[in-house]
Amino acid sequence: MTAPTTRFAPSPTGRLHLGHAASARHGFEAARQAGGRFLLRIEEIDGTRCRREHEDGILDDLRFLGLSWDGEVRRQSEHLDDYERAVERLREMELLYPCFCTRADIAAEIARAACAPHDLPVPGPLAGPCGPLYPGTCRRMAREDAERRIASGAGYGLRLDVERSARLAEQRNGGPLFWHDRGAGRIEATPRALGDVVLARKEIPTSYHLAVSVDDHLQGVTLVTRGTDLFHATHIHRLLQALLGLDVPEYDHHPLVLDDRGERLAKRRHAPTIRSLRDEGRTAAEIWRMAGWPPVGETRSGEAETTDGHR
Ligand code: GLU
Repeated sequence: MTAPTTRFAPSPTGRLHLGHAASARHGFEAARQAGGRFLLRIEEIDGTRCRREHEDGILDDLRFLGLSWDGEVRRQSEHLDDYERAVERLREMELLYPCFCTRADIAAEIARAACAPHDLPVPGPLAGPCGPLYPGTCRRMAREDAERRIASGAGYGLRLDVERSARLAEQRNGGPLFWHDRGAGRIEATPRALGDVVLARKEIPTSYHLAVSVDDHLQGVTLVTRGTDLFHATHIHRLLQALLGLDVPEYDHHPLVLDDRGERLAKRRHAPTIRSLRDEGRTAAEIWRMAGWPPVGETRSGEAETTDGHR
């Protein structure tokens, strides 16, 4: 088996906490223990939430913790052309449609459809793993109406027609799509469960799902390590890989770090940041123990290990 190329792909919306450090360490160890490559990608396409100072802070925390990465850091905002090309291909395949709905429009449509379930455009549950499923309102809009609204300057997102896309991908593949997960085994992709996800916006020509799928391919990532909170997203990523002819990596969705109450660490729950732990005088080794890992250079069983020579 060839040595994997893994990556850590933080969004600089704040400083790293223990959960991020643990996630980075999963990717780092999977690569280093097998003599592979560990890449770093900064996912900062959402300029309203991401900050350069957080990005610099993340790099500084990773260095402090002893995690070295290979090659240049890829910053998504510097590669918008790559994503635009992918959007263009999907558009040519007639798998995208403009959507003008606000959150309020979507909530109202869902409430209406809930009263008349037979009206639901996509059969199945009203709620997807990332919130309410888009009820398909704009999918039914006449093309001329959509063009008129775009010409008048209306804001919009481009949604993937997931039914049509999944049907096309399965037809080409001669059956359902699968991915291999190190923890969960062979998983059948069921992208319809996420509904018509947004793949690009008027002001940001891409989205998390699209950029991650394109980047993992372009960076030659062969093993995607990320938390189980993103497991559902892989169903859409697998579909995009099939539609765009991208390489299919292996996946390892690792458990999340929980706090003493068994709750998942997240910024909104005031998890201590690596920066604040450093400010309290904690060493890298202490921080690793708090994240459930031994210091870098030691394996989980405590054996010393060299990480040199893999770069
Ligand atoms: N940027 C995402 C995050 O910070 C992670 C993306 C991924 O690993 O696929 O949650």
